[in-house]
Amino acid sequence: MKFKLNSPKHFDSANPGQEACRSIDEFLEQLAEVAPEDYSHAMGYPGTNNQNMNGFYDWYVPTGMSHVFLNNAGDPFSEQPFKMSTLGVERKVIEFLAPFYGINVDNVWGIVTTGGTDGNNHGIYFGAQKLRKETGLAPVVYVSKESHYSNMRLCDLQNLEVRLVDCDIMGRMRPESLREALDPKRPALIIYSMGSTFKGAIDDQRLLNDVIDEVEPIAVHRHVDAALFGGYLPFTDKRYLVDINAMGFQSIAISGHKFFGIDMPCGLFITTKSTLEYQKAYNVGYLKGEMPMINCSRSAMAPMKFLWVIKNVGREGLERQARQILERADYLLNRLTDIGWKAWKNEHSNTVFFRHAGDEIVRRYSLAGGYDEALGGALNHAVVMQQISKELIDELIEDIRRTM
Ligand SMILES: *Cc1c(COP(=O)(O)O)cnc(C)c1O
Repeated sequence: MKFKLNSPKHFDSANPGQEACRSIDEFLEQLAEVAPEDYSHAMGYPGTNNQNMNGFYDWYVPTGMSHVFLNNAGDPFSEQPFKMSTLGVERKVIEFLAPFYGINVDNVWGIVTTGGTDGNNHGIYFGAQKLRKETGLAPVVYVSKESHYSNMRLCDLQNLEVRLVDCDIMGRMRPESLREALDPKRPALIIYSMGSTFKGAIDDQRLLNDVIDEVEPIAVHRHVDAALFGGYLPFTDKRYLVDINAMGFQSIAISGHKFFGIDMPCGLFITTKSTLEYQKAYNVGYLKGEMPMINCSRSAMAPMKFLWVIKNVGREGLERQARQILERADYLLNRLTDIGWKAWKNEHSNTVFFRHAGDEIVRRYSLAGGYDEALGGALNHAVVMQQISKELIDELIEDIRRTM
């Protein structure tokens, strides 16, 4: 550490707040009573438990940053009058990751968000703004029935008409259903799911884009909701699936606390400068310019953690983790199939869904629940994140086998 902020005079180092920590300790004790098994066995939700951010915290306090207020209000891509921010780090994160989504550093714009939902909010808002400006008409949003609920919620919030498009049995948007739903006379805002919530389906952008080309709506904007899969796909040989040039989308949302393993909710919203051009509506004098993002104050901490994880784990580390989760997802699918327990997994997905495993197992492994009549009714899924070991998978298989 070369840099150290000077302690302000009012900073009282004689009172490090240990009393207050004890109050939180009480909560941690309660957590410890229920948590050990939950912590080590939870498989139903896409959090990463083992990215190990100790090194970040060891560095953070001695810098002196823990006693100043840092705020990333403003645009990381334009010069800001307010210097107590990590907007420079935020820009670095976006520029470092842009090429992984096929976007040239010169052409990228983006922010570190509060999570996947915030990224979707920006994707939907930017898309709707652009389409309105291009056509003078409000767009219709097309999104699959199996997409994450935040998309429907956000369209409601933004007062946008939504047409929910049917899916095939594996959870992918059906091209024929999109064709039936598409209105050629209205601008189309398409949301593609890259990892639908329950079945982990990847909408086939190429097939669906062909349908859009055929129907030719008067204007189109494509946003990709890739909260979970958008973290790992760039680090596999299937990176073209989240490549803006290969797939022709205009914006993408990714969560930071899923594959990247950051220990608090955060995410990325990444788009191009040409999409940004349509957003410049609100000139904010005190922030020196146009403020395209929805939120004013934003976390200065999240970009630091993002950059730290990217640099600490590194490209090779992320590639290794991506390989590992996909191999173990295959392993889980194969083991379930071997014991004759009905199970399914989409291609390039780390989410395995299977026949409901019984309430006790669902509780023990914090499995998420779902339902599909066509697949026999009640289902569960497991999301194979970095901390899910083969031993844990074997344990789950043993537990399920005992109930058969
Ligand atoms: C998790 C998820 C979201 C929501 O992201 P948050 O980071 O929890 O806000 C949205 N879409 C998909 C596909 C997800 O997996």
